[in-house]
Amino acid sequence: MILITGGAGYIGAHVNKELHNEGYDTVVLDNLSSGHKYAVNWGEFREGDISNINFIDSIFNEFDIEGVMHFAAFTSVGESVKYPAKYFKNNYKNTLNLLKVMRENNVNKFIFSSTASVYGIPKNIPITENDILNPINPYGKSKLMVELALERELKLNPNNFKYSALRYFNASGADIDCDIGEDHNPETHLIPLILDVAMGKRDKIKIFGDDYNTPDGTCIRDYIHVKDIAQGHIKAFEYLNSFDNLDSNSNPNTNSNSNLNSLTNIFNLGNGNGFSVKEVIETCEKITGEEIKKEVVDRREGDPSILIADSKRAFDILNWDPEYSDLEKIVETSWNWHKKCFK
Ligand code: UDP
Repeated sequence: MILITGGAGYIGAHVNKELHNEGYDTVVLDNLSSGHKYAVNWGEFREGDISNINFIDSIFNEFDIEGVMHFAAFTSVGESVKYPAKYFKNNYKNTLNLLKVMRENNVNKFIFSSTASVYGIPKNIPITENDILNPINPYGKSKLMVELALERELKLNPNNFKYSALRYFNASGADIDCDIGEDHNPETHLIPLILDVAMGKRDKIKIFGDDYNTPDGTCIRDYIHVKDIAQGHIKAFEYLNSFDNLDSNSNPNTNSNSNLNSLTNIFNLGNGNGFSVKEVIETCEKITGEEIKKEVVDRREGDPSILIADSKRAFDILNWDPEYSDLEKIVETSWNWHKKCFK
């Protein structure tokens, strides 16, 4: 059984579905503060909060957990700037609870939902896992602190603990069968906001700055389909499993004395293609057949101009092969979901 914390949220729910499709049993733990009960259509569900150690422990007592995929976290960059303590407590401190209960219950496999935000303003494009880690907002810092905690955990338990941290770029798109998709409240992400305009639920999309050093002046991001991200988790889990039958010193977390970036269990998940805000708007116009009203406003604080992943490590080591790398396909799945969910 795999425990999915935050499995009622956008990415966690897609991972739950993919795991189910591949024959895994799952239990979802979620406090439903931002996730949705309707999104937990597969496996078991227990409602509760990872701040409560007894609650986490009760799940490990009830189920035979072989590994944990950890998504339960606050994810809004803007909110993290306003309420940093909330982010450090939930994203970092509460994750320590989870790791403690895992250790006590002898559960040793952990897949962590990390983020490209750990890089801050990157030095090189595309960004490799070896780039400097310098997050510029509390959200990214809280995620990096967990990566460091995982490294510490490995030092405590080098022969057994195995983990992988997946640094996603811009998660987007929706389930191909339209069962689940993006449903944040409030919504802050570019594609669903543009689709709101296409549906007449919003007047216009605000473009946060067109004076960046990019060909059309707007920020460039690497949009990666949520189903491909979900597949990345399964591949990472299988990768950890592949060390099970080797001798006890084998561990994918190769060298516990090296710094985070040289570990081969940390993977970027992105397509390696960048699209500007204006290009995303044009693609949404093409897919929806609607003209999108737009207005250029000031830059949003903390936005790097270009974020594009180098995911070679995930391709080579995990055999990860994104299927929905075409932006039109990504937007098409979002649009199908958007029409169904927000009609
Ligand atoms: N963006 C924008 N208008 C919006 C929301 C986002 O111009 O209403 C831009 C944002 O500045 C960034 C890109 O769209 O360059 C993607 O932003 P999003 O919030 O979707 O993801 P992030 O890159 O912050 O993870």
